[in-house]
Amino acid sequence: MKLSLFIFVLFFTVTPISAHFFPNITSIPTSLIPNTTLWDGFSQFLGSHKGQKVNGLAKLKNYFQRFGYISSSSSANFTDDFDEILESAVKMYQINFNLNNTGELDVQTLKHIVLPRCGNPDVINGTSTMNSGKPQTNSTIHTVAHYSFFPDKPSWPASKTELTYSFLPDNQLTENVKSLFGRAFERWSEVTPLTFTETSSFLRADIKIGFFSGDHGDGEAFDGILGTLAHAFSPPLGLFHLDGDENWVMDGDFINASPLSAVDLESVVVHEIGHILGLGHSSDEAAIMYPTISSGMRKVELTNDDIMGIQQLYGSSTNSNYSDPILTPRNERDSNGAHYLVCLFWSHGIILAIGFFLFL
Ligand SMILES: [Zn+2]
Ligand SMILES: [Zn+2]
Repeated sequence: MKLSLFIFVLFFTVTPISAHFFPNITSIPTSLIPNTTLWDGFSQFLGSHKGQKVNGLAKLKNYFQRFGYISSSSSANFTDDFDEILESAVKMYQINFNLNNTGELDVQTLKHIVLPRCGNPDVINGTSTMNSGKPQTNSTIHTVAHYSFFPDKPSWPASKTELTYSFLPDNQLTENVKSLFGRAFERWSEVTPLTFTETSSFLRADIKIGFFSGDHGDGEAFDGILGTLAHAFSPPLGLFHLDGDENWVMDGDFINASPLSAVDLESVVVHEIGHILGLGHSSDEAAIMYPTISSGMRKVELTNDDIMGIQQLYGSSTNSNYSDPILTPRNERDSNGAHYLVCLFWSHGIILAIGFFLFL
């Protein structure tokens, strides 16, 4: 009942849209392919470092704040000074993305910054959620784990292995698009005891999937073509949002086609399902849970890093008793994290905040 009220409020505070889907890269009209994208302008900061003042750096600070690298309590009126705050943000970003930790905006760092990416933050409450090269503390596992979890490690309860998902009716998705989501869910189902079944009841579904444009009521506005592509909330909220303004491509086999704006839908869907199940971002570039994806890249296969992470939460597909995790690596995000969602909602919308607390 309370959940229904929350969704009721959601319906009346946002404007869902129909998203753009294309069978392949060549079917995207040139009119929908922009000359520049949202973050391309950051390239002008090449070579910048602490002590300089460069026009427009305030926008880069907003970018870093958006993904947690600068505290949300810092002033929204940033200056164009390359100050210590920006330098420490750049350094943390470089560590997360396995770049030279110089604190300068070098070529490799800027190349990463302008990539389209997931809207979920990499740093929460000042603590990076990305395990960059940190070895497993479990001495019997000779590997390096990069996967991560949300603060306080939320997951779907052990009693709930049969999850349902549904699509926002207003999006009117085709069966082709829906079956693509089904395939993406199947990838996670194959390595866990979890099953995913589509239901027509959006209100009752555990996982609610919707395409939205711009501000859609949860304080995490989408930004048009490229930039942030999608975001998803930690268990058990099950809210899964995608940017309806992207040029979503169903057949992502277009690596050599030099697309300017095409994004492989299934790649992003597989990533966001990881969040829905409780995974955070990984610093393993090959992993599904890596935060960025190049325009035109297809990446849909779970890697060992993704599988180790999800099986720590739920066990393997043959081990239905996931109250007893298989592995016990360190959890870097064990303080204050459960409040992230509360803060997110509270800081961005009183209406949603009320809905959220009712839901709890
Ligand atoms: Zn993500
Ligand atoms: Zn959203």
